[in-house]
Amino acid sequence: MHKDLEQLKQQLPLLEYLQRRQWTARQVGDGDEFVGLCPLHFETRPSFFVNVRKNVFYCHGCHRGGDLIRFVELSERLSFRESLARLDLDRAAGDDAAVLARTVAFFQLQLQRCSEAAHYLEKRGLHHADLITELGLGYAPGGNLRRHLADYGYSFERLAQIGLINPHGREAFCRRVIFPCVQEGQVINLYGRSIGAAFPHRLLPRAKGGLFAWDSVSAFSSVILVEGLFDLAVLWQAGFRNATCAIGTHLTPAQWSQLCDQPGRIVHLAFDQDANQAGQQAARLLARRLQSAGLKARIVHLPPGQDPNTYFAAGATASDFLHCIDRAESL
Ligand SMILES: [Zn+2]
Repeated sequence: MHKDLEQLKQQLPLLEYLQRRQWTARQVGDGDEFVGLCPLHFETRPSFFVNVRKNVFYCHGCHRGGDLIRFVELSERLSFRESLARLDLDRAAGDDAAVLARTVAFFQLQLQRCSEAAHYLEKRGLHHADLITELGLGYAPGGNLRRHLADYGYSFERLAQIGLINPHGREAFCRRVIFPCVQEGQVINLYGRSIGAAFPHRLLPRAKGGLFAWDSVSAFSSVILVEGLFDLAVLWQAGFRNATCAIGTHLTPAQWSQLCDQPGRIVHLAFDQDANQAGQQAARLLARRLQSAGLKARIVHLPPGQDPNTYFAAGATASDFLHCIDRAESL
Protein backbone atom coordinates (compact mmCIF):
# COMPACT_ATOMS: atom_id res chain seq x y z
CA MET A 1 0.00 0.00 0.00
CA HIS A 2 2.72 2.46 1.02
CA LYS A 3 4.75 1.74 -2.12
CA ASP A 4 1.63 2.14 -4.32
CA LEU A 5 0.94 5.50 -2.73
CA GLU A 6 4.46 6.74 -3.41
CA GLN A 7 4.18 5.55 -7.00
CA LEU A 8 0.82 7.28 -7.46
CA LYS A 9 2.21 10.56 -6.16
CA GLN A 10 5.25 10.29 -8.44
CA GLN A 11 3.07 9.67 -11.47
CA LEU A 12 0.79 12.62 -10.67
CA PRO A 13 3.09 15.42 -9.46
CA LEU A 14 1.17 17.92 -7.35
CA LEU A 15 2.23 20.95 -9.40
CA GLU A 16 1.07 19.34 -12.67
CA TYR A 17 -2.17 18.29 -11.03
CA LEU A 18 -2.84 21.87 -9.93
CA GLN A 19 -1.80 23.43 -13.22
CA ARG A 20 -4.15 21.17 -15.17
CA ARG A 21 -6.86 22.68 -12.96
CA GLN A 22 -5.89 26.21 -14.01
CA TRP A 23 -3.82 27.01 -10.93
CA THR A 24 -1.40 29.74 -11.93
CA ALA A 25 1.76 30.21 -9.96
CA ARG A 26 5.15 31.83 -10.13
CA GLN A 27 8.43 30.29 -9.15
CA VAL A 28 9.94 31.63 -5.94
CA GLY A 29 13.50 32.64 -6.80
CA ASP A 30 15.19 29.81 -8.65
CA GLY A 31 14.33 27.24 -6.02
CA ASP A 32 11.90 24.35 -5.74
CA GLU A 33 8.98 26.49 -4.63
CA PHE A 34 6.00 27.92 -6.49
CA VAL A 35 3.44 30.32 -5.06
CA GLY A 36 -0.08 31.26 -6.14
CA LEU A 37 -3.60 31.94 -4.85
CA CYS A 38 -4.94 29.24 -2.54
CA PRO A 39 -7.43 27.02 -4.43
CA LEU A 40 -9.03 26.03 -1.12
CA HIS A 41 -10.49 29.43 -0.22
CA PHE A 42 -10.90 32.96 -1.56
CA GLU A 43 -7.88 35.24 -1.25
CA THR A 44 -6.37 38.15 -3.13
CA ARG A 45 -2.72 37.74 -2.14
CA PRO A 46 -0.95 34.48 -2.98
CA SER A 47 -0.15 32.40 0.08
CA PHE A 48 -0.30 28.87 -1.33
CA PHE A 49 3.15 27.32 -1.75
CA VAL A 50 4.06 24.13 -3.60
CA ASN A 51 7.43 22.50 -3.13
CA VAL A 52 8.10 20.45 -6.26
CA ARG A 53 11.00 18.49 -4.79
CA LYS A 54 9.06 17.36 -1.74
CA ASN A 55 5.82 17.26 -3.81
CA VAL A 56 3.81 18.95 -1.03
CA PHE A 57 1.84 22.17 -0.48
CA TYR A 58 1.35 24.58 2.38
CA CYS A 59 -0.97 27.59 2.61
CA HIS A 60 -0.01 30.44 4.97
CA GLY A 61 -3.58 31.76 4.70
CA CYS A 62 -5.54 28.74 5.90
CA HIS A 63 -2.60 26.88 7.46
CA ARG A 64 -3.39 23.69 5.65
CA GLY A 65 -0.84 21.56 3.91
CA GLY A 66 0.17 18.09 2.85
CA ASP A 67 0.58 15.93 -0.22
CA LEU A 68 -1.55 15.41 -3.32
CA ILE A 69 -3.95 13.08 -1.54
CA ARG A 70 -4.47 15.58 1.24
CA PHE A 71 -5.15 18.26 -1.37
CA VAL A 72 -7.81 16.12 -3.06
CA GLU A 73 -9.40 15.37 0.34
CA LEU A 74 -9.66 19.09 1.05
CA SER A 75 -10.59 20.41 -2.37
CA GLU A 76 -13.08 17.69 -3.31
CA ARG A 77 -14.30 17.06 0.26
CA LEU A 78 -13.58 13.34 -0.04
CA SER A 79 -12.33 10.78 2.44
CA PHE A 80 -8.79 9.44 2.13
CA ARG A 81 -10.07 6.26 0.48
CA GLU A 82 -12.34 8.19 -1.92
CA SER A 83 -9.47 10.53 -2.82
CA LEU A 84 -7.29 7.58 -3.73
CA ALA A 85 -10.02 6.15 -5.96
CA ARG A 86 -10.44 9.54 -7.66
CA LEU A 87 -6.70 9.81 -8.27
CA ASP A 88 -6.55 6.29 -9.67
CA LEU A 89 -9.16 7.33 -12.23
CA ASP A 90 -7.14 10.46 -13.01
CA ARG A 91 -4.03 8.36 -13.49
CA ALA A 92 -5.78 5.99 -15.90
CA ALA A 93 -7.21 8.96 -17.81
CA GLY A 94 -3.72 10.49 -17.89
CA ASP A 95 -2.27 7.30 -19.38
CA ASP A 96 -4.92 7.30 -22.13
CA ALA A 97 -4.37 11.01 -22.71
CA ALA A 98 -0.67 10.37 -23.32
CA VAL A 99 -1.47 7.82 -26.06
CA LEU A 100 -4.08 10.14 -27.57
CA ALA A 101 -1.67 13.10 -27.51
CA ARG A 102 0.88 11.01 -29.41
CA THR A 103 -1.83 10.04 -31.88
CA VAL A 104 -2.77 13.69 -32.39
CA ALA A 105 0.86 14.65 -33.04
CA PHE A 106 1.12 11.88 -35.64
CA PHE A 107 -2.11 12.96 -37.37
CA GLN A 108 -0.93 16.58 -37.43
CA LEU A 109 2.15 15.48 -39.33
CA GLN A 110 0.01 13.50 -41.78
CA LEU A 111 -2.11 16.58 -42.46
CA GLN A 112 0.95 18.40 -43.76
CA ARG A 113 1.79 15.47 -46.01
CA CYS A 114 -1.60 14.72 -47.51
CA SER A 115 -2.79 17.16 -50.13
CA GLU A 116 -6.27 15.55 -50.21
CA ALA A 117 -6.76 16.61 -46.57
CA ALA A 118 -5.53 20.14 -47.23
CA HIS A 119 -7.91 20.41 -50.20
CA TYR A 120 -10.75 19.19 -48.02
CA LEU A 121 -10.11 21.89 -45.40
CA GLU A 122 -9.96 24.49 -48.15
CA LYS A 123 -13.30 23.26 -49.51
CA ARG A 124 -14.83 23.57 -46.03
CA GLY A 125 -13.64 27.18 -45.92
CA LEU A 126 -10.88 26.63 -43.38
CA HIS A 127 -7.61 28.22 -44.46
CA HIS A 128 -5.93 30.04 -41.56
CA ALA A 129 -2.83 27.95 -40.91
CA ASP A 130 -2.45 29.35 -37.37
CA LEU A 131 -5.99 28.35 -36.45
CA ILE A 132 -5.52 24.86 -37.91
CA THR A 133 -2.47 24.50 -35.68
CA GLU A 134 -4.22 26.01 -32.67
CA LEU A 135 -7.14 23.58 -32.96
CA GLY A 136 -4.64 20.72 -33.30
CA LEU A 137 -6.22 19.52 -36.53
CA GLY A 138 -4.79 16.42 -38.10
CA TYR A 139 -5.49 13.83 -40.74
CA ALA A 140 -5.80 10.07 -40.43
CA PRO A 141 -4.97 8.47 -43.77
CA GLY A 142 -5.59 5.06 -42.17
CA GLY A 143 -3.33 2.05 -42.04
CA ASN A 144 -0.17 3.56 -40.53
CA LEU A 145 -1.06 4.59 -36.96
CA ARG A 146 -0.72 1.18 -35.35
CA ARG A 147 2.86 0.71 -36.53
CA HIS A 148 3.74 4.24 -35.46
CA LEU A 149 2.40 3.73 -31.93
CA ALA A 150 4.00 0.28 -31.68
CA ASP A 151 7.36 2.08 -32.06
CA TYR A 152 6.50 3.83 -28.78
CA GLY A 153 5.76 0.52 -27.11
CA TYR A 154 1.98 0.63 -27.19
CA SER A 155 0.52 -2.84 -27.59
CA PHE A 156 -2.32 -3.95 -29.81
CA GLU A 157 -4.46 -4.56 -26.69
CA ARG A 158 -3.77 -1.08 -25.35
CA LEU A 159 -4.81 0.60 -28.61
CA ALA A 160 -7.90 -1.61 -28.86
CA GLN A 161 -8.85 -0.71 -25.29
CA ILE A 162 -8.66 3.01 -26.11
CA GLY A 163 -10.65 2.38 -29.29
CA LEU A 164 -8.01 3.49 -31.79
CA ILE A 165 -8.22 0.06 -33.43
CA ASN A 166 -11.04 -2.46 -33.41
CA PRO A 167 -10.56 -6.10 -32.29
CA HIS A 168 -9.81 -7.09 -35.90
CA GLY A 169 -6.97 -4.58 -36.06
CA ARG A 170 -8.74 -2.04 -38.27
CA GLU A 171 -8.03 1.57 -37.38
CA ALA A 172 -10.97 3.62 -36.10
CA PHE A 173 -10.05 6.55 -38.30
CA CYS A 174 -9.42 6.16 -42.01
CA ARG A 175 -9.47 9.13 -44.40
CA ARG A 176 -10.74 11.45 -41.70
CA VAL A 177 -9.85 14.96 -40.58
CA ILE A 178 -9.21 14.76 -36.84
CA PHE A 179 -10.14 17.29 -34.15
CA PRO A 180 -8.70 16.54 -30.69
CA CYS A 181 -11.15 17.14 -27.83
CA VAL A 182 -9.10 18.68 -25.04
CA GLN A 183 -10.17 19.16 -21.45
CA GLU A 184 -8.03 20.57 -18.65
CA GLY A 185 -5.04 20.32 -20.96
CA GLN A 186 -5.53 16.64 -21.76
CA VAL A 187 -6.77 14.99 -24.95
CA ILE A 188 -9.81 12.97 -23.90
CA ASN A 189 -11.31 12.01 -27.26
CA LEU A 190 -10.86 12.43 -30.99
CA TYR A 191 -13.50 13.45 -33.49
CA GLY A 192 -12.95 12.31 -37.06
CA ARG A 193 -14.79 13.80 -40.05
CA SER A 194 -14.78 11.54 -43.07
CA ILE A 195 -13.53 13.16 -46.26
CA GLY A 196 -14.73 10.18 -48.31
CA ALA A 197 -17.91 8.11 -48.57
CA ALA A 198 -17.82 6.70 -45.01
CA PHE A 199 -20.32 7.87 -42.36
CA PRO A 200 -19.35 11.52 -41.75
CA HIS A 201 -18.96 11.62 -37.97
CA ARG A 202 -16.98 9.40 -35.65
CA LEU A 203 -15.81 9.71 -32.04
CA LEU A 204 -13.82 7.12 -30.13
CA PRO A 205 -16.04 4.97 -27.89
CA ARG A 206 -15.31 6.98 -24.76
CA ALA A 207 -16.72 10.08 -23.08
CA LYS A 208 -16.92 13.04 -25.47
CA GLY A 209 -16.15 15.33 -22.55
CA GLY A 210 -17.35 18.86 -21.96
CA LEU A 211 -18.15 21.59 -24.45
CA PHE A 212 -15.42 22.10 -27.00
CA ALA A 213 -12.73 24.59 -25.89
CA TRP A 214 -14.78 25.49 -22.81
CA ASP A 215 -11.59 26.53 -20.97
CA SER A 216 -11.42 29.60 -23.20
CA VAL A 217 -15.12 30.10 -24.06
CA SER A 218 -16.51 29.96 -20.50
CA ALA A 219 -15.34 33.51 -19.76
CA PHE A 220 -17.85 34.96 -22.26
CA SER A 221 -21.25 36.06 -21.00
CA SER A 222 -22.64 35.56 -24.51
CA VAL A 223 -21.78 32.36 -26.38
CA ILE A 224 -22.63 30.73 -29.70
CA LEU A 225 -23.47 27.03 -29.60
CA VAL A 226 -23.06 25.10 -32.86
CA GLU A 227 -23.58 21.47 -33.88
CA GLY A 228 -20.32 20.65 -35.57
CA LEU A 229 -16.62 21.31 -35.17
CA PHE A 230 -16.31 22.71 -38.68
CA ASP A 231 -18.99 25.25 -37.73
CA LEU A 232 -16.89 26.19 -34.73
CA ALA A 233 -13.68 26.35 -36.78
CA VAL A 234 -15.06 28.80 -39.37
CA LEU A 235 -16.62 30.95 -36.64
CA TRP A 236 -13.31 31.16 -34.76
CA GLN A 237 -11.63 31.97 -38.07
CA ALA A 238 -14.10 34.84 -38.56
CA GLY A 239 -13.31 36.15 -35.06
CA PHE A 240 -16.22 34.65 -33.09
CA ARG A 241 -14.06 33.15 -30.34
CA ASN A 242 -17.13 32.75 -28.12
CA ALA A 243 -18.34 29.80 -30.23
CA THR A 244 -18.45 26.37 -28.65
CA CYS A 245 -19.76 22.98 -29.71
CA ALA A 246 -21.39 19.95 -28.09
CA ILE A 247 -20.67 17.74 -31.15
CA GLY A 248 -24.30 17.16 -32.10
CA THR A 249 -27.45 18.78 -30.77
CA HIS A 250 -27.67 16.66 -27.61
CA LEU A 251 -25.91 18.03 -24.53
CA THR A 252 -24.49 15.62 -21.96
CA PRO A 253 -25.22 16.51 -18.30
CA ALA A 254 -21.63 17.78 -17.97
CA GLN A 255 -22.01 20.04 -21.03
CA TRP A 256 -25.36 21.28 -19.78
CA SER A 257 -23.97 22.33 -16.42
CA GLN A 258 -21.04 24.10 -18.14
CA LEU A 259 -23.42 26.14 -20.26
CA CYS A 260 -25.42 27.05 -17.16
CA ASP A 261 -22.41 27.96 -14.99
CA GLN A 262 -23.02 31.69 -15.48
CA PRO A 263 -26.54 32.91 -14.64
CA GLY A 264 -28.04 35.19 -17.27
CA ARG A 265 -25.62 34.03 -19.96
CA ILE A 266 -26.90 34.60 -23.51
CA VAL A 267 -26.71 31.43 -25.62
CA HIS A 268 -27.08 31.83 -29.39
CA LEU A 269 -28.09 28.51 -30.91
CA ALA A 270 -26.73 28.35 -34.45
CA PHE A 271 -27.78 24.83 -35.46
CA ASP A 272 -28.19 23.40 -38.94
CA GLN A 273 -31.15 24.66 -40.96
CA ASP A 274 -32.20 21.16 -42.01
CA ALA A 275 -34.84 20.43 -44.67
CA ASN A 276 -36.44 17.95 -42.24
CA GLN A 277 -36.37 20.60 -39.46
CA ALA A 278 -34.25 18.38 -37.15
CA GLY A 279 -31.76 21.14 -36.31
CA GLN A 280 -34.47 23.77 -35.86
CA GLN A 281 -36.52 21.52 -33.56
CA ALA A 282 -33.49 20.63 -31.48
CA ALA A 283 -32.65 24.34 -31.16
CA ARG A 284 -36.18 25.19 -30.06
CA LEU A 285 -36.27 22.45 -27.42
CA LEU A 286 -32.87 23.40 -26.04
CA ALA A 287 -33.79 27.10 -26.07
CA ARG A 288 -36.82 26.43 -23.88
CA ARG A 289 -34.75 24.35 -21.48
CA LEU A 290 -32.13 27.09 -21.23
CA GLN A 291 -34.76 29.75 -20.62
CA SER A 292 -36.25 27.76 -17.76
CA ALA A 293 -32.77 27.39 -16.27
CA GLY A 294 -32.46 31.19 -16.14
CA LEU A 295 -30.35 31.74 -19.27
CA LYS A 296 -31.25 33.84 -22.29
CA ALA A 297 -31.61 31.68 -25.38
CA ARG A 298 -31.59 33.09 -28.92
CA ILE A 299 -32.19 31.07 -32.07
CA VAL A 300 -30.02 32.10 -35.01
CA HIS A 301 -31.62 31.73 -38.43
CA LEU A 302 -29.37 31.09 -41.40
CA PRO A 303 -30.49 30.75 -45.04
CA PRO A 304 -32.46 27.50 -45.66
CA GLY A 305 -30.34 24.36 -45.84
CA GLN A 306 -27.26 26.01 -44.35
CA ASP A 307 -25.18 25.66 -41.21
CA PRO A 308 -22.49 28.11 -40.07
CA ASN A 309 -19.85 26.15 -41.95
CA THR A 310 -21.63 26.08 -45.33
CA TYR A 311 -22.71 29.70 -44.82
CA PHE A 312 -19.12 30.89 -44.53
CA ALA A 313 -17.84 28.45 -47.17
CA ALA A 314 -20.40 29.97 -49.55
CA GLY A 315 -18.81 33.38 -49.04
CA ALA A 316 -20.58 34.90 -46.03
CA THR A 317 -18.51 37.39 -44.04
CA ALA A 318 -18.22 38.06 -40.32
CA SER A 319 -20.61 41.00 -40.66
CA ASP A 320 -23.16 38.78 -42.47
CA PHE A 321 -23.08 36.39 -39.53
CA LEU A 322 -23.20 39.24 -37.03
CA HIS A 323 -26.34 40.39 -38.80
CA CYS A 324 -27.87 36.90 -38.23
CA ILE A 325 -26.87 37.11 -34.55
CA ASP A 326 -28.47 40.55 -34.23
CA ARG A 327 -31.71 39.27 -35.74
CA ALA A 328 -31.70 36.06 -33.66
CA GLU A 329 -35.10 35.04 -32.36
CA SER A 330 -35.82 35.25 -28.64
CA LEU A 331 -38.45 33.00 -27.12
ZN1 LIG B 1 -5.39 28.50 1.96
